[in-house]
Amino acid sequence: MNTPEGKRARRRWLVPALAVTAALAKERVRATFFVIGSQVEAHPEYAKRLVAAGHELGNHTYTHRRMVFVSPDTVAAEVEPTNALIRQAGQRGEIPSRLGHPAAPLVRRRAAHA
Ligand SMILES: [Zn+2]
Repeated sequence: MNTPEGKRARRRWLVPALAVTAALAKERVRATFFVIGSQVEAHPEYAKRLVAAGHELGNHTYTHRRMVFVSPDTVAAEVEPTNALIRQAGQRGEIPSRLGHPAAPLVRRRAAHA
């Protein structure tokens, strides 16, 4: 992953995640990291490291697209692969999500009818 995109993706993960987790470990605080599925897919080792350190991962969509006026299928396409990647990183239990306000009621409705 030494393409410019790979380097950018690594910086997006490495700098905040490692700096923050070092500070959290020092204070013995566990946090929820809302992650973007495509970045977890590109760097699963960082997601695994966060879970192994006792932190929780939350779903912040797969592509970080704007979730306004999108269909339930689009919401599912953003949420479900990201949840699967979070599971692959080792997380158990409920996965919190931050999808932005307009999509959130849609997701709740979908979940209620599932
Ligand atoms: Zn965001």
